[in-house]
Amino acid sequence: MPLVGGNKKLKMFHEVSQSSSKGPALVTVLKEITERVGETLQAHAVAVFLYNEQGEYLLAQEPSRGLNPGVTNDLKLDMTVPGPLSDSFRDSKPLLIARRNSKNINSSILPDYKVVDLIANPLSTRGKDIGLIVLANKMNRKGFTARDLKFLELLSPQISVFLDNALLYRKSEEKLAQLTSLIRVVDAINTVSSLDHLYNLALDVIKGLFRVDKALINIVNNQTGLLETVRSFGYSQEYIRSHLSHPFEKVEKCYVMRFDGAFLCLDVAEEGRCPNISIDKDTRSVLCVPVRSGKNTYGILHMASDARNAFDDDDATLANAIGEQIGMAVESARLFEEINRLAITDGLTGLYNVRHLKRVLGEEVRRSLRYSRPLSFIMLDIDYFKVYNDNNGHPRGDDLLRILAGLLRQNTRDVDTVFRYGGEEFSVIIPEVCKQEAFSMADRIRRVIQDYAFSLEDGQPGGNLTVSMGVANLPADAVDSAELIEKADRALYRAKQMGRNTACSYAAEHDTDASHVWGPSPDNRGQP
Ligand code: GH3
Ligand code: MG
Ligand code: MG
Repeated sequence: MPLVGGNKKLKMFHEVSQSSSKGPALVTVLKEITERVGETLQAHAVAVFLYNEQGEYLLAQEPSRGLNPGVTNDLKLDMTVPGPLSDSFRDSKPLLIARRNSKNINSSILPDYKVVDLIANPLSTRGKDIGLIVLANKMNRKGFTARDLKFLELLSPQISVFLDNALLYRKSEEKLAQLTSLIRVVDAINTVSSLDHLYNLALDVIKGLFRVDKALINIVNNQTGLLETVRSFGYSQEYIRSHLSHPFEKVEKCYVMRFDGAFLCLDVAEEGRCPNISIDKDTRSVLCVPVRSGKNTYGILHMASDARNAFDDDDATLANAIGEQIGMAVESARLFEEINRLAITDGLTGLYNVRHLKRVLGEEVRRSLRYSRPLSFIMLDIDYFKVYNDNNGHPRGDDLLRILAGLLRQNTRDVDTVFRYGGEEFSVIIPEVCKQEAFSMADRIRRVIQDYAFSLEDGQPGGNLTVSMGVANLPADAVDSAELIEKADRALYRAKQMGRNTACSYAAEHDTDASHVWGPSPDNRGQP
């Protein structure tokens, strides 16, 4: 069948193909196709529908020819509903509805548009169905013929290739944008100073990358074992009030935490796997991925959209990568915390060490001076500990240090802090307590230890393991932390001198003590 003006028509597609091979924007290709096909076949309206496989629908693309954008945007053909256009696409068959059959044209095909005849042809390439091209006429145009349809059929492979190129190009552009964003997150791991900062940045990136209305980062609280929202956007004030900084859900109830994999839900209404999915009544699709590093899962990254089918498998892959980056940041922050904790903790007893004592005491002294509040300090030393070690061996001595540390913790207030000062010496910072009261506390602790039945204590002098203590106070005895420690130490020496198993408050005459050679004098108790 000879095609009138065929050369002209082919020339036009050569031009479209030129722009297509340079990596065209989809809009440019759509504009070229709809305009030129429309001109050539004298169609009033031309629209290209692209197929959405997940959603099982054909969606009209903007720009089109002869239809205003508002109309094109609403043109969606549900493939599960039979109709001439969806049948044409599904059966890969060209469609001609001639003017005489125009009553067969459902008004929903082109609302507000008096269609009198119509041709359509499926578009496919590389064995994949891409969509459908539809040409329609109004009353004032001449009707379509079988030849027009044949021409459209002949052009369709070319049109499909242009569209496919443009779609691939768009995908690669999207991929590039996604990779760039991912690199931003990766960079941020090494540069951001705090986890807070990183959470903000991650959610910013997510806003730009996904079709997302709401997102959360939920991290497992090690103490409670619950997922806690550490950052969110898009959720209502009500949600934030009831969930942010409060436990979100039990780890075992979270699909992602249980299966340690992505959770992609295209339609919340039909979802049964996640019991926590409806945290917002508007949510239609959800994508959650683990926040993990290696084998450790720290929480989840949750995204939600008010639209159905808002996410796809590519989104899940990218979100997984972002989740892993956040996971690595959480892991290094936790390691950093752990290293800091170890640096201030005594490995044997679990108490704070002397390095931390210096810092905490400095802070407490400053506070005490600024607000004119009393601050007391206790130094404690085990009596005849060398004997205990000699009789029972060093490991049993270590056991005893651990038990003693526990007794000190149990017998002080929450606001007091117990330290291992070194060797068999301990100290306690007692804020807001005057000297007399601190002495009473010290003496009560002394009696607890005296009365405690330590194993193997029979070999100690007097058959009992005891401690001596010195108490000093600010402002009574000292003006700074160094002096507070020194005065408590002098009082401790005094307690040893007075016969051990003694608590002694610092007094000025302790400064004149000639030596630190301690000797027993059991009946003597130090008094403030
Ligand atoms: P005093 O009543 O005069 O304080 O007598 P003492 O025997 O406790 O004092 P001395 O300073 O002579 O001995 C302290 C002992 O504490 C010696 C040391 O072996 C022991 N010691 C220090 N650190 C540790 C430790 O980490 N583990 C064990 N098992 N013993 C320790
Ligand atoms: Mg000692
Ligand atoms: Mg000792």
